[in-house]
Amino acid sequence: MKPSFHARPVNGPFEDPCVYVRILREKRALLFDLGYIGRLELGNLLKVTDVFVTHMHMDHFAGFDTLLRGVLKRDTPLRIFGPENIIQCVGGKLNGYTWNLIKDYPLKIDVFEINKDSISHAGFYAENSFRKVMHPTMIFDGIIKKEPLFKIQGVLLTHQIPVMAYSLEEEFHININKAILTEKELPVGPWLSDLKKAIREQRSEEITFEINNKIFTLEELMEIATITKGQKISYVMDVAPSDENMGKIIPLVKGSDILFCEAYFLEKDRDRAEERHHLTAALAGKIAREANVGSLEIMHFSPKYRHSVDELYNEAMKEFKG
Ligand SMILES: [Zn+2]
Ligand SMILES: [Zn+2]
Repeated sequence: MKPSFHARPVNGPFEDPCVYVRILREKRALLFDLGYIGRLELGNLLKVTDVFVTHMHMDHFAGFDTLLRGVLKRDTPLRIFGPENIIQCVGGKLNGYTWNLIKDYPLKIDVFEINKDSISHAGFYAENSFRKVMHPTMIFDGIIKKEPLFKIQGVLLTHQIPVMAYSLEEEFHININKAILTEKELPVGPWLSDLKKAIREQRSEEITFEINNKIFTLEELMEIATITKGQKISYVMDVAPSDENMGKIIPLVKGSDILFCEAYFLEKDRDRAEERHHLTAALAGKIAREANVGSLEIMHFSPKYRHSVDELYNEAMKEFKG
């Protein structure tokens, strides 16, 4: 099965947490968190259309300037999602520069601030020298963004301050059966993308496709497509080790193919974890087990474990797989 997303951490586990997700068929990418992103090449930065920020501690947000510098002359808008205060934080970053010569630039930055049951929306556009404009507030019901290919869900958790955790979920995955394609003497071509698009958008079965001068209905072509469960990727960072948070994370990340989760402390330092509002490696393993995830990638480790990094992996794996 050809995957739709490819997810990878940008940095090592002792550095700023950040996951880059390529959407393979759309030549675009998503970013989860925006700490140090200096290792992303300009070509990769330019693909980023949406950024999902967990919270605005520096290690999760200091890369805003690098991203802005990269996309400043781009026509494609940039969307930034995050918890309470994200609009003010983006505004503050933009206010740190002088913008008298960018009125002809097309860049539009839209910022979505997720609160308990609403999403506030602010626009910062180059044509207005990035002065803030407020747009109507939307309802937040757990879904942050929905497109034909995927949806992003989120929950509001605590890290003393509000923090978001996210999941990216493909609606379903469409595989083309090459054997049936050959058997029916149908050529490989751009029509296959149109077919997938029509399936994804749940278009009526009456639409038709012209292939090699012959007309086919969607229904006739459905037998070459197999529909399977889509990919799911989740991202959980900087969360207090409370039962309340655990109870909200598990349903969000349920059934993920990959869960990227912080493991800032070892369980033996649980007091520290409580004080600093972070998860332990054992808790990351517990979430992965209870949510039945395919694989767990722990990251964002306290520097105190630089010489005992295996203990973090062992503790998480023991809890995850037993
Ligand atoms: Zn933090
Ligand atoms: Zn952090």
